Amino acid sequence: MEHPENSQEYRGLTVNSGVEKPSIVNPYLQRGRFARRRLTAADYVEGILRGDVTILGQAVTLVESTNPQHQAMAQEVIEKCLPHSGKSIRIGISGVPGAGKSTSIDEFGMHVLERSGGRLAVLAIDPSSEKTKGSILGDKTRMEKLSVHPDSFIRPSPSAGSLGGVARKTRETIILCEAAGFDKIFVETVGVGQSETACHSMVDFFLVIQLANTGDELQGIKRGIMEMADGIVINKCDGDNVEACHLAARQFRNALHLFPAPESGWTPKVLCYSGFYGLGIREVWDMVYEYIDFVRANGYFQHRRAEQAKFWMYETINEQLRNNFYNNPAIAALLSDAERSVLDGRKTSFAAANALLDTYFDLMRQQH
Ligand code: GDP
Repeated sequence: MEHPENSQEYRGLTVNSGVEKPSIVNPYLQRGRFARRRLTAADYVEGILRGDVTILGQAVTLVESTNPQHQAMAQEVIEKCLPHSGKSIRIGISGVPGAGKSTSIDEFGMHVLERSGGRLAVLAIDPSSEKTKGSILGDKTRMEKLSVHPDSFIRPSPSAGSLGGVARKTRETIILCEAAGFDKIFVETVGVGQSETACHSMVDFFLVIQLANTGDELQGIKRGIMEMADGIVINKCDGDNVEACHLAARQFRNALHLFPAPESGWTPKVLCYSGFYGLGIREVWDMVYEYIDFVRANGYFQHRRAEQAKFWMYETINEQLRNNFYNNPAIAALLSDAERSVLDGRKTSFAAANALLDTYFDLMRQQH
């Protein structure tokens, strides 16, 4: 079979254009044979609102850029898109590497597109992607069916350094995707560490993929997954593994009783399925849709989104203060000396930190 990237149809449709392809004719960039006009913020907004995935992909690149000019333009685009956003369901999907996230997302995505039409964006939060120089999550080659579906947009994780930075960019990308008419957003994340918390803070439903027989049941309970999960699904419930999966599901259900009832009033469910064989997929999505109906009816849906917006306001303040501090050249010049004095025991951590902060605040005062 011809590789989809080589087919005219693929190029013509510019499907899944999370990755910009120079070969795609972009009417905004094409001015004569060689001349290229830079897109203005208005061009981006117009393209996004028209649902143009090529422009959307480029706007996401702008959001991910560390160039201050790009950042300023990205903020303008986001602000203009904001009134057109919010009309989607946002699903977080978490699981340790090997849990079957990409296999499952491919199946889940095809299921929801067949079931309710619309458009699906698959985004990711993977703070390790910078270290590994290639994002692990959200890579379209991992999702064979979705990657050639005309109504899907797959975007790998931004690699922006700190988890806060990566997560903020994913959150901003959600806004752009929604403005472009994507009414279903999946946010994939690795089931280890803080990235789960970040993902949880931007979705309406947080789905945790677990495996049987890994001892993860208990780890998950320790790490507070039980408080975060709106649904726990045990994957690979096929072949010889069926019994073990049902046992794991029972253990999770029992453990859930030990936790206080969630604020949503919803009792998280535990289901078994097989992403690979496509078994139990409908039941997983029955659960998700049932939850959405439930929280829309009791007002929790809006409450959670409002709380998330507040959370992200503080996250943005914290991140910008931190960046402003560390990117200040005078501070940067003093940091290694301060570090050494703490390591040598010449200064306490607090004294060194306070001296640096005093210098920073003095500099700020002088500036104004
Ligand atoms: P990820 O790292 O979480 O994205 O996991 P992948 O989707 O790449 O899957 C990891 C491995 O598990 C692959 O070899 C898959 O073929 C396999 N796998 C995924 N889902 C299932 C399933 O439902 N049943 C079985 N038996 N294997 C699966």
